[in-house]
Amino acid sequence: MGRITLDKVQKSFGEVEVIPPLDLEINEGEFVVFVGPSGCGKSTLLRLIAGLEDVSGGQIRIDGEDATMTPPAKRGLAMVFQSYALYPHMSVRKNIAFPLRMAGMDQAEQERRIDKAASILNLSDYIDRRPGQLSGGQRQRVAIGRAIVREPAAFLFDEPLSNLDAALRVGMRLEITELHERLKTTMIYVTHDQVEAMTMADKIVVLRAGHIEQVGSPLELYRAPKNLFVAGFIGSPK
Ligand code: ADP
Ligand code: MG
Repeated sequence: MGRITLDKVQKSFGEVEVIPPLDLEINEGEFVVFVGPSGCGKSTLLRLIAGLEDVSGGQIRIDGEDATMTPPAKRGLAMVFQSYALYPHMSVRKNIAFPLRMAGMDQAEQERRIDKAASILNLSDYIDRRPGQLSGGQRQRVAIGRAIVREPAAFLFDEPLSNLDAALRVGMRLEITELHERLKTTMIYVTHDQVEAMTMADKIVVLRAGHIEQVGSPLELYRAPKNLFVAGFIGSPK
């Protein structure tokens, strides 16, 4: 579960081609980081995979099945948004339950999944509070909890830590890495932070103006950056 294949995936907004035809293979259980400067197309690529944007060309396969036209809710993927996307008037429990209620899941199964997510993320102490009564890190955990309960084939993160302060970012980075080790679910993580990319990724995809400049493990990219752009992004001494 969680193998994602992009085959000549292309995206234009009007006349502007933001993603030229691009191939990418994401393996089951892999932690893949999309890194690159602001505006290079990281979010667009993630949204294409999530189905929040329609491709202009090419094919997306999830676990071997053509998912190019599959609506987002049926792709079996869960997007983790920044913590401010929580519903302020709902308790933590209700926020986490929301996607399950929308899917019409029965109450007992909802409870089972919420309890499991609460235990994985240590949410139990504040499960009945509202987002406004939580710290930034706690809120981010809730946002992740809302994805976990869906038991997705892959988690998609779009700069989830960018509005947290530096110390908290380090802690949350470790929590997400531990979560990956525990669940072994495919994760695609978008960031413009090279430290996040180097410390979290199994595989780094360096994007530049919508195309893939280089793909490799952190060590491969560090040791053998293809060019100065990659070296600059990875922090290699080239
Ligand atoms: P990143 O996440 O790497 O900062 P984005 O994927 O958000 O980059 O954006 C890539 C490019 O696509 C940018 O030039 C941006 O202006 C453009 N873009 C993104 N979304 C839209 C949209 N809905 N309509 C038009 N242009 C867009
Ligand atoms: Mg972005």
